[in-house]
Amino acid sequence: MKKIAILGSTGSIGTQTLEVVRANPDLRVVALAAGSSVEKMEEQIREFHPAVAGMWTEEAAADLRSRVSDLPVKVVAGMEGLLEIAVLEEAQVLVTAIVGMIGIRPTIAAIEAGKDIALANKETLVTAGHIIMPLAKKCGVSILPVDSEHSAIFQSLNGEPADKIEKILLTASGGPFRGKSRRELEDIRVEDALKHPNWSMGRKITIDSSTLVNKGLEVMEAKWLFDVDLDRIQVVVHPQSIIHSAVQYVDGAIIAQLGTPDMKLPIQYALFYPDRRPMEGKRVDFFELGQITFEKPDMETFTGLKLAYQAAKAGGSMPTVFNAANEKAVGLFLDRKIRYPRITELIEECMEHHKLVKEPSVEEILRTEQEVYEYIAGKVK
Ligand code: NDP
Repeated sequence: MKKIAILGSTGSIGTQTLEVVRANPDLRVVALAAGSSVEKMEEQIREFHPAVAGMWTEEAAADLRSRVSDLPVKVVAGMEGLLEIAVLEEAQVLVTAIVGMIGIRPTIAAIEAGKDIALANKETLVTAGHIIMPLAKKCGVSILPVDSEHSAIFQSLNGEPADKIEKILLTASGGPFRGKSRRELEDIRVEDALKHPNWSMGRKITIDSSTLVNKGLEVMEAKWLFDVDLDRIQVVVHPQSIIHSAVQYVDGAIIAQLGTPDMKLPIQYALFYPDRRPMEGKRVDFFELGQITFEKPDMETFTGLKLAYQAAKAGGSMPTVFNAANEKAVGLFLDRKIRYPRITELIEECMEHHKLVKEPSVEEILRTEQEVYEYIAGKVK
């Protein structure tokens, strides 16, 4: 029996993780955490019977407590609650599926407590990869990627060391606006940006996919996870999303992982690694597919990816600026306060304004995040 805790259980990755649990009776959920979705959390508690459940606000926790008072579940709140869940004795694996830098501290706590991490929350590695990866090594825990591209790389590597990698080929669908000009991006509405061609995901990551900022975050995530230089991570636009990513080895061989777009596969792979379990679902049919195609990413129109490479090259606190500026800007776009192209413009302005901190501590990362938020608040009234 493998015991898991899930941070962000009511979201897109969280609910798909629970589908994997439903299909595998030897997985047991010992703790769940979410932001404010009390009703969903109540349903999950009644179905999965965790020992602990966390909500972000005290109010939501109080509401949940009264709803589940008939059950033996401890309800916790806030960052303290997330930290309690992260180090819970019974859990072997922590699934980090919350959005944003809020995931950093619980992930660090879980690693220090010896838990393996099934990592979906990419912001953690993007902003604190220099802290997380050495710590995981020191504590002897595994960071198992849940992001489909990183899982594909992980599967393609299958234990080969970093010095055998010539290049990582990180595939991208290109998003719903592939082929559009900068002028055409001016008129993009929230509804348009929320339509991803191949994947069904949370709202923020769907917008990030459309701007290619998500791909930029994935480049940074890949750098930390697989210990490769940025110039050896190449983004390849592959609109059909069948090749989830590939590794080119020093002898020229390319090994890729292919499949239909379904996040349950990388989630299940992370939870049972190194075991590969059976999974129901649609299979890739090459004859039905006919052909698959590739293109170079258009970094002049989709400047989000170019800015991500710049932030990653600068290193230190710059990826935090990139990520925080994007988080805030996407929120403003979803609230219809700014136009679509303003998302990447704001990221660029924040990066230009920032004074780099070379090896930021967690406190400095979180302070940088706040500074970026305040800077944007001053710009967008
Ligand atoms: P969603 O927005 O669908 O879900 C976010 C989850 O986090 C919800 O359960 C939400 O709870 C919870 N949450 C939000 N704020 C807090 C908080 N302060 N405390 C506790 N829980 C909180 O996001 P996704 O599932 O799409 O993405 C999660 C992470 O995984 C992101 O980092 C994303 O980049 C990454 N990822 C996602 C993929 C996908 O296919 N969706 C693919 C690869 C990576 P509530 O419902 O109450 O708001």
